[in-house]
Amino acid sequence: MKLDATDLRYITSDEFRVLTAVEMGSKNHEVVPTVLIVQISGLRNGGVNKILGSLAKRNLVARVQNSRYDGYRLTYGGYDYLAMRTLSKRDSMYSVGNQIGVGKESDIYIVADNEGKEMVLKLHRLGRVSFRAIKEKRDYMGKRKSASWMYMSRLAAQKEYTFMKVLHQHDFPVPTPIDQARHTILMEFIDAYPLRQVSEIPSPGALYSKLMDIIVRFAHAGLIHGDFNEFNILIRRESSEPVVIDFPQMVSTSHVNAEYYFNRDVQCIRTFFRRRFNYESALYPRFKSTMKEGSDDGKEFRLDVVVAASGFKNADQKALEEYMDSLKDDSEGEESTEEEEEEESEEELENEAIEDIHPSAEEISSRFSPEPLYYSTSHLPIAQN
Ligand code: ADP
Ligand code: MG
Repeated sequence: MKLDATDLRYITSDEFRVLTAVEMGSKNHEVVPTVLIVQISGLRNGGVNKILGSLAKRNLVARVQNSRYDGYRLTYGGYDYLAMRTLSKRDSMYSVGNQIGVGKESDIYIVADNEGKEMVLKLHRLGRVSFRAIKEKRDYMGKRKSASWMYMSRLAAQKEYTFMKVLHQHDFPVPTPIDQARHTILMEFIDAYPLRQVSEIPSPGALYSKLMDIIVRFAHAGLIHGDFNEFNILIRRESSEPVVIDFPQMVSTSHVNAEYYFNRDVQCIRTFFRRRFNYESALYPRFKSTMKEGSDDGKEFRLDVVVAASGFKNADQKALEEYMDSLKDDSEGEESTEEEEEEESEEELENEAIEDIHPSAEEISSRFSPEPLYYSTSHLPIAQN
């Protein structure tokens, strides 16, 4: 079932109270018992049941029946709504337009402020991945495992926003960050094509050098992008200048695997330029010499240190990193053998219980309908009550 902008506009204050109660309850409950929702919301029992029914109809919460007790969980849709409502209350955004991107771990929408200025809203979806990764993740999720998709998606958004802000302040070519709430980031809309879609350019060598310079500048500032590829580099339509996006996986040059990540970023660009533009250069940056140059430079500033000091906690950083690593391990083993497939189906059985708290396959696929979720050609406003 799909949400539409009408739902976003018309939500009563009681409905909002109940939705918030489900969110609060999911901090320590996989399925939030209805009695607890009643308690947190402070509304009369009968009223709450009716409201829960109508929220479920709009796919903001989902009823979970096959558990020991009667309860609800917050859906992606509900979490999205709460985030957008917060942004709208802060006057950061006003309306939602078309979906422009669906990544493995995010959805991208064009939104606008109340003057009609277009921006990009990135909604992180870290729970969308296979259940195998979720299982591994349980070890370090501790008490919060019940809300893993919400928690991990929020951490990813917080991390990405923190990096984007620091990079922007230091004149790196990144979108201007505007605001952040829950699992979402609001940023400048870049009128550009992903490099992936560019089939010909007048001077591949010039762009190649620019991109390598950015990698080197990152490293001099103590940072490695970690996913520096043709999907995460946008080429501005007017000036053909590159803009770098997508930062949840950035690491410090002090990371134990820094050299590996650095080389991989460099290699991605070399390979892409060779395949797409038939361009090869003997010149490319090496981690060790790049780091040496950096420390010789008296003006060296360490953005990894700035980020660490900015309030994005080390423990959060670690949890997110481990989670992302577990995803990588997962996709690296994509070509699975028969044996593994057997193993997987066993796992599927084992994980049926987990499916309860994560969006179902239908729920996820309904989000990929050809029509965007909050589709509107005229940018419908969001309810504020
Ligand atoms: P993911 O983590 O899912 O890869 P990205 O941040 O890379 O998400 O964004 C996915 C796609 O959305 C990009 O390839 C790009 O086409 C588009 N996009 C993201 N941010 C912007 C932006 N600020 N302006 C224009 N397009 C954007
Ligand atoms: Mg990306």
